[in-house]
Amino acid sequence: MTPEQLAAIRAHLEGTAELARVDRAIEDGTYGTCARCGEELDGEQLVARPLLGLCPDCLGGLAAEQGGRRFGICGVRPRR
Ligand SMILES: [Zn+2]
Repeated sequence: MTPEQLAAIRAHLEGTAELARVDRAIEDGTYGTCARCGEELDGEQLVARPLLGLCPDCLGGLAAEQGGRRFGICGVRPRR
């Protein structure tokens, strides 16, 4: 993920509660990596879906396992 992509992601979330969650994950160093396998996520994909917390492989697998429940961003537990 490039600094430009990160800036685009933060701009996209400006004014939303999610920005704080993303900022926390960035500080923790967990943003932009898959919460399940640790693989680095594609920057372009994150710009399109900033709250993506899993790589496409894990996302597909987990969505199937858990009936398509929504996931939180990396390192942040999904809200109930
Ligand atoms: Zn993964």
